[in-house]
Amino acid sequence: MSYAAAAKAIANASSIIVTTHINPDGDGVGAGLALVHALKGMGKQVRFCCPSRVVSMYAFLPGFAKITAVEDEAAAAKTRRADLIISCDAGDVERLGAVAKVKRSTLINLDHHVTNTRFGDLNVVDVDAESTGVVVEKLLRRMKVKLDKTLGECLYTTIVFDTGRFMHSNTTAHTFRWTAKLLETGIDAAAINRALTYTKKPHDLLIQKMGIENLRVDEQEPRLAGIVLSADTIAAVGEPEDWGDLVEIARSLAGNQVAYLLREAKDRKTVRCSMRSNPPFEVGSVAQALGGGGHRQAAGCTFVGNLAAAQREILARLRHQLS
Ligand code: 5GP
Ligand code: MN
Repeated sequence: MSYAAAAKAIANASSIIVTTHINPDGDGVGAGLALVHALKGMGKQVRFCCPSRVVSMYAFLPGFAKITAVEDEAAAAKTRRADLIISCDAGDVERLGAVAKVKRSTLINLDHHVTNTRFGDLNVVDVDAESTGVVVEKLLRRMKVKLDKTLGECLYTTIVFDTGRFMHSNTTAHTFRWTAKLLETGIDAAAINRALTYTKKPHDLLIQKMGIENLRVDEQEPRLAGIVLSADTIAAVGEPEDWGDLVEIARSLAGNQVAYLLREAKDRKTVRCSMRSNPPFEVGSVAQALGGGGHRQAAGCTFVGNLAAAQREILARLRHQLS
C-alpha cells in the first residue's frame, strides 16, 4: 500500500480524471466526489468521468451535476488525455469499462476489495478499510487536506453505503470514531440517511414486490435463500433505475446465512449475480471463481450462460460454502 507514492503522483499532476466502477454505488460516487473537491482545492484540473450513468439517488451530493459518463470507446476516444486517472472502489480493470481506454500517464487504483487485482500503476488497496471513502480520507490526510462539510457529506455517504447503515460485519469501533470526525464537520447525517433510504418511487416498490414474489429458500439448505429474476419477469415490471439492495430481502429471513440475487440479461446470455453472507461464511471467493469479485461477505459477478446454468453452478457453490 503506497499512500506516499500516490500523494507524490498527485502533487506532480496537473490534469486528473477521477473515476469509479460501472453502476457506481454510494461508496464509488462519494469517494470520487470527495477526491474531486479536495483536488480542486489543491488547484488541480479535475474531471469526474464515470463508465456508466450515476443514479439520481446521489443527486444531493455536492458535485454530482458535473459527473460525466464515458460509456463506450467513442466517448473514451473523445475524452481529453489526463496526467492521472484515479480509480475509486473498482476491484478490477473491467469494472472501469470504457474509462480504462482514456489516455493518461499514470493510473492510481484506490480500493478496499479483498479480490482487487492491483491493476493500477500505483495501488492503494486497503482491505481493512470499511469503504473506499476511508482510503481517500487517509490519502487526503497525508496530503494535509483539512476535512470540511463538503468532504464530510461525500465521505459519510461512503460509510453508510458500504457498512449497510452500520449493520454489516465490517462495522468496527474505528468505523464509529471515523464517522464521528465527519459529523464534526457539521453535516446533517440524518438528512443524508433519508436521501439514501427514503427516496423510492412507486416503481421501485413494484421491484421489491417482484423480489418477494420470486424469493426462494433452498430445498437442500435452509440457510440459503435468493431471488431469481428471468428476463421475462423483469420485462413485465420494467427495469428500475437502480437495483439497490434487493438481495437484502432474501437476507432478511430469520436463519438466513447466505443470500443471492440472480438477474438474467435481456439477451439471456449472461446473469448478474449479487451475493451476501454472514461470517464465517464467505461469498467473495465464489464471485472471484466466476470472474467477479468483492468482499468476503458481499460480492458479485456476471455469469456467462443462461439462468438455469447460473442457478445450477452458483447454488452448488453457495451450498458448498455452507457445508
Ligand atoms: P453488489 O452485489 O452490490 O453488486 O456488489 C457487492 C460487492 O461486490 C461490491 O463491493 C462490488 O463492488 C463487488 N462486485 C460486484 N460485482 C462485481 C464484479 O463483477 N466484479 C468485481 N470485481 N467486483 C464486483
Ligand atoms: Mn466499496
